[in-house]
Amino acid sequence: MAILYADDPADAADWAKAIHALDPALDLRFWPDFGAAGEIDFVIVGSKAPGDLRQFANLRAIQSTWAGVNLLLGDVGLPPDRPLARMVDRGLTVSMTEYVVFHVLDHLREGPRLRAAQRAHRWLDGPQRSPRSLSVGILGLGVLGADVAAKLHALGFPLRGWSRSRKELPGVTSFAGREQLTACLAGVELLICLLPLTDDTRGILDHTVFAALAPGAVLIHAARGAHLVEADLLAALEAGHLSRAVIDVFAPEPLPAGHPFWRHPAVTVTPHVAAITRAGTGAEDIVANYRRAMAGQPLINQVDRSQGY
Ligand code: NAP
Repeated sequence: MAILYADDPADAADWAKAIHALDPALDLRFWPDFGAAGEIDFVIVGSKAPGDLRQFANLRAIQSTWAGVNLLLGDVGLPPDRPLARMVDRGLTVSMTEYVVFHVLDHLREGPRLRAAQRAHRWLDGPQRSPRSLSVGILGLGVLGADVAAKLHALGFPLRGWSRSRKELPGVTSFAGREQLTACLAGVELLICLLPLTDDTRGILDHTVFAALAPGAVLIHAARGAHLVEADLLAALEAGHLSRAVIDVFAPEPLPAGHPFWRHPAVTVTPHVAAITRAGTGAEDIVANYRRAMAGQPLINQVDRSQGY
């Protein structure tokens, strides 16, 4: 009985330490030196598998260290009939909320204008906006979107949220399903995307979404690169319909040298760093899921392959 770590080798020591701190007796092996393939019961992967996981005939389950499993689901080496769990890690959730709240407050407190004024040695004072006057929309009210919503609600922002099923979250006006997307966006000045990438959500950040927002709106996109129709964003910025975009995720990554986002004055690029899984906290669910898989129980945060997330 063995667990195979098949994620980034650079992180292997951290994961081994965190997993063995919870259960020193676990037989943890490391790709590609896994010994007899028939002894592997459970595989830990990142955003992709490093090779064909179908060779592990006795595999009970697969655990990703990533919250979004869109790349993994497209991987031919992923056994189609074994349960797959995605990562829900409180360390990752906290860092995503920090990232989003930081950029929301930077917008509220006029960070970009103040930095530009300092560069021009210009004293720029003026009235201050209240959070209550800034309507924020959140696409995706799952683990990450709901935590962001809770913190922004505590700060006083009026919130509108969109998901597949309707939600009851404090301070959030909930909209559900494609037919309510446009209604959700009405009057929104700051749009946050925290959706999973699926067939239904690919290319969702397009000109129709941008046109439905309040003029001069800001986009904070920390979900997946393929949600965004880049040409539509550039056109919306050019037209002044959007005033700014903060983008953490791209298709492809790394963002190629010479891409217009790098030098666009209204685009802030961050290199897919909004939130990363922390081994110290992420190992808890991995060990729990290993035990569940061995007991034949459903996994925590098991991916619904029919929905793609
Ligand atoms: P989650 O818990 O699965 O939540 C996904 C949310 O999206 C749910 O509210 C879901 O609706 C909604 N949704 C899915 N498909 C939809 C559709 N077709 N129409 C409307 N709403 C839809 O996922 P999470 O843990 O919050 O993570 C969200 C995403 O963040 C990940 O998939 C990943 O792409 C991204 N992410 C990025 C980083 C980074 O560093 N940039 C880090 C981690 C994660 P229901 O609630 O009704 O199911």
